[in-house]
Amino acid sequence: MDVPEHTIVFADSGGYDFAVETLDTTPRETLETQRQLEADIFGTVDVPLSRDHRSAKNQQRIDRSIDFALAASDLHDGEELLLASVHGYDPETIRNSIQYLEKRGDFDGYALGSLVPIRTDYTKVTKLVLAARTATDKHLHVYGLGGLVYQPLLLYLGVDSFDSSAFIRSAGNRNYLLPGFGGEELWNIEELEYLPCSCPVCGDRTLDEIRADRDALTQHNLWALTTELRRFRYVSTAGKDIETYLDLRFQGNKVTQRAYKIAKQQVRGLA
Ligand SMILES: [Zn+2]
Repeated sequence: MDVPEHTIVFADSGGYDFAVETLDTTPRETLETQRQLEADIFGTVDVPLSRDHRSAKNQQRIDRSIDFALAASDLHDGEELLLASVHGYDPETIRNSIQYLEKRGDFDGYALGSLVPIRTDYTKVTKLVLAARTATDKHLHVYGLGGLVYQPLLLYLGVDSFDSSAFIRSAGNRNYLLPGFGGEELWNIEELEYLPCSCPVCGDRTLDEIRADRDALTQHNLWALTTELRRFRYVSTAGKDIETYLDLRFQGNKVTQRAYKIAKQQVRGLA
């Protein structure tokens, strides 16, 4: 993809492409593909859960993902980091899965999946992420979440990395992500001389120009997420109080404010 040499590349197994019933890869094939991509971090093959499945069916999928992770652990002998993909819709399943994999396999961290279908249930997502976070001190990745709302929440919950196509999907819907407003989108205004962002894309463009150029909008949206990430890192590195920052950060949006409040209660409950 022509990224600079020092870029860290994470390759997952493409689990969501297997939403249909037949899996068209094996742990061995996936490891080979990931190596051909020259990825630095590998995610193990997994079969994601669905909210619509009966729990017995989801349990089968959880078990299969665990077997695939252990198979990948046995086969993997390279330098690349291997993260085991873990699924579950209750905290105990997540905890048990991680502890089981930790005992039987050799992993550099864990990657939590199947959260996309339940992403609007902030209480549930927060509980599952915290269950994973407290089950391991190793690297924790979250699959599929990480837009403007989830990114600071995941950072707050102690997640080390995440992936999200939110910046692309938002651009597809002509949504301009606005850094610093808790996931708020740019209002539908008629005229605006300067955009409320100074990223390399917005600097010399007008509102109409960026609305008409989806690639530019996609790039801006990625910058918006980057800005948020850099601010969070700054607050954290400077030793400032993260909760005070997030109180301020989420105050503009009722929905995300509620999500943050739920996360805060749960984090404090652990203390
Ligand atoms: Zn911008």
